[in-house]
Formats: sequence, C-alpha cells, structure tokens
Amino acid sequence: MKGIKMMELPRNVVVGPGVIHEILPVCSGLKLYGNCIIITGNRTEKIAGKIVKEELEKEYSIDMVRVKESNEREVERVVELSKKIDAGFIVSAGGGKIIDVGKLSARKLGIPVVSVPTSASHDGIASSRASIKGVDGRTSVEAVSPVAVIADTEIISSAPFRLIASGCGDILANKTAVMDWKLAYRLRDEEYSEYAAALSEMTAEIIMESGEVIREGLEEGVRLVVKALISSGVAMSIAGSSRPASGSEHLFSHALDMIAEKPALHGEQCGVGTIMMMSLHGGDWERIRKVLKSIGAPVTAVELGVDDDEIIEALLMAHKIRPDRYTILGSGLTRRAAKKLAKKTGVI
Ligand SMILES: [Zn+2]
Repeated sequence: MKGIKMMELPRNVVVGPGVIHEILPVCSGLKLYGNCIIITGNRTEKIAGKIVKEELEKEYSIDMVRVKESNEREVERVVELSKKIDAGFIVSAGGGKIIDVGKLSARKLGIPVVSVPTSASHDGIASSRASIKGVDGRTSVEAVSPVAVIADTEIISSAPFRLIASGCGDILANKTAVMDWKLAYRLRDEEYSEYAAALSEMTAEIIMESGEVIREGLEEGVRLVVKALISSGVAMSIAGSSRPASGSEHLFSHALDMIAEKPALHGEQCGVGTIMMMSLHGGDWERIRKVLKSIGAPVTAVELGVDDDEIIEALLMAHKIRPDRYTILGSGLTRRAAKKLAKKTGVI
C-alpha cells in the first residue's frame, strides 16, 4: 500500500443550537446499524448522554458506559463491553477524553464512532488523533475520524468559558505549526500538503479576526470556534498527520504537561507556546498575544498557573519530545536564549 494515503474525513457535520436532537436521523441516514454503545461522563451524561440515549432508543438497542479518563484501561473496558453486546457503532457524548476513548475503541473494534462534543477546548472533536494517558504522560496516537460530528452549540455554550478560550489557543497554534511544517519541508524535504496548510492557516486567521464575537454567552462565537476546531481536524486528516495543527508550540505544551506541578489546559498552554514560537520565527507574536488576551485566554505564566522556572524548563525540553518532528526549536535553546524569549514576550 506504499504511496497510497487514505484521507479519512467525517461524512456528516451538524453544528448549531439544539442539534443534539438530530442524532437519530443522522445515525440512520449514515446507515449505522446494530446495537449502539454510548460513552459518556458523570457530568456530561446529564447534559448530553441522557438526551442521546432517549433519542437513539427509539430505533436502536443501547448500552451506556461512563468513563473518567482516556487511558488503555478505559479503552479496554469499552472494547470488552462492545464485544459483549455486539455493538455496531459507538457514540461519544462528552468532553475531549470521552471523544478520545470513543475514537480509540472504534479503531480497535473496526466500527464507526459519532462525536457529540460537550465542550470545545481542543481540536480532537473531529480529528483522527486521540490523546491517551500512559505511564510517561499523555501522548497523541492515531485513532479514527468520527463518521459524524454533532456539535450542539447550546450545550457547548453552557460549559465554562475557559474551555472555549482554550480551544482558541489550540486553533491559533496552527499559525506556528504551519511555519514549522514549511521549515521541515524546506530543510528536510518532509512531506507537505499545500491544501492542508492553507486550510489550517485560514482557520487560525478567521479566529484572529473574530476575537470580538468570542465572548462568554455568545452562541455565534461558540459556533465559530467549533467550526474552526472541526476545520483543524479536517486539515490533519488531509495531511495524514497532525503537522498542520501541531508544531513547536505543541511540543512546548507537552513538555509543560510533564514538568509543571499543575499544568493548565492543553489549548491554553499551546496559545502561550504560539506567542513564544512566533517570536522565534520572527513573526508577529504581539498580534497573537493581543488576540489571546482579548478572548480572555492566558498569556503569562501567572495566568497559566505555572512557575517561571517551569516555563524555562519546558522550553529547554520541548525539542526532545518528538525528535522526528523538526521545528524552529532545532536542536534546542540555550538556557539564556529560553529566558530571553520568555521575558521578551512577557510570558515571565
Ligand atoms: Zn492541540
């Protein structure tokens, strides 16, 4: 199969207020058959899992499973139960971890998964990648793209605004991710997709220009962020890798996850990483900082709730996280350069 790359994309994307009630026609329209297993969480069961169950029960036989974390054990639990009831498809109704467990279980079982996100804090809601917690922290692995995404903006708006702001950080990260990708293409002749890169950049640009509608309680802003997160996922699917949406700023965030005593949210850390990596690229980091600030996302160590030292250590460690991923960090920063960067950009 060398040279043949599958571009796996969601077939149905429904975004808007109240669309959760459309789940039955979406599933039957996609000809999903057999028993259905709903993965949900303790809090998200009340706001989404229950509704999905009530709707789907009209036509399907349902089993519901609550998961707390995205790890091997939880995936195994879902896989076992799915086999026991002979599940034909999975519906993940919940936050990022629940969506990830659904995508990983679906891959193992070879059945489709429908994503019903209850928050919009990162671009995993429509992508084929999933983050899983292992012995040495979180890693991102290949799973499957959801066959449908049903993003009810009424439900997503009711989640804490901090999550939406974090989602914006994950989208702005596309800016530096694409710059890193272009660098790797020029210096290492890495595989590159103009189309995926353009889509990813445009997605970030839309958020950059719409800062004023992304406000607590504004459904319009939530819809914009959700659509942008889905586009980022699609860009990754087109590229067949996370390259268009994950570069040096993500490496910084992954390093901070390992180093910080109390890490912040993924997208929040990526946003701060984007400010610093944009400065390394010689780009307009002040603009990134201004947009994040206007949305209400953190732009400093204090706002992230981490120490200045942890920022420096994460900057020093970042290039080692994924040695195969060439970025502006090259073979790493010196301690003096890392300090200078964090100070110059106002992070510490
Ligand atoms: Zn991300």
